[in-house]
Amino acid sequence: MLKLTVIQGDITKLKVDAVVNAANHTLLGGGGVDGAIHRAAGAELLKECRTLGGCQTGEAKLTSAYKLPCEYVIHTVGPVWYGGRNHEEENLRNCYLNSLKLAEEHACQTVAFPCISTGIYRFPKEQAAQIAVSCVKQSASALKFVKEIIFVCFSAEDKKIYDKLLNKDTVE
Ligand code: ADP
Repeated sequence: MLKLTVIQGDITKLKVDAVVNAANHTLLGGGGVDGAIHRAAGAELLKECRTLGGCQTGEAKLTSAYKLPCEYVIHTVGPVWYGGRNHEEENLRNCYLNSLKLAEEHACQTVAFPCISTGIYRFPKEQAAQIAVSCVKQSASALKFVKEIIFVCFSAEDKKIYDKLLNKDTVE
């Protein structure tokens, strides 16, 4: 059974096994949630990220979490929204799938996702949330270690969207 939870808050405060970062291709930090994660984790995170050689859209790479209360950071690069005809949906789906794959490989039980691509990258919020929820639900039966996925919404508006989509907490 996979538990799906929605909270409003700051992802850098969570004591989960893995926090997912909505990073950019360089993996060297940026604005939004990426900046918040790097600030809270400290300079050691940037040092490890420099060794990774960047990351392609839809792919994911894992690092230690340093000063963050979680164990790992999974850095994934969401698609920039260019109107929807540039593989944006497929790329966003891959962000969730590849992040979960890494979480499984590292035996993570709890994983927190931000609303990937919906900030600076302009992906429509409702559509992105639908992709996030359907993707994790479809993965549920294949997950052996991951027991809980937390959708971390920074705004009340985002939380409302996820609450509506997840009218129940648990999928089997
Ligand atoms: P992207 O470039 O993928 O669009 P952003 O960081 O600009 O990434 O936005 C992604 C989402 O992360 C947005 O919903 C934004 O409000 C949210 N966000 C920003 N800071 C935090 C934080 N500290 N914790 C959780 N979510 C955050």
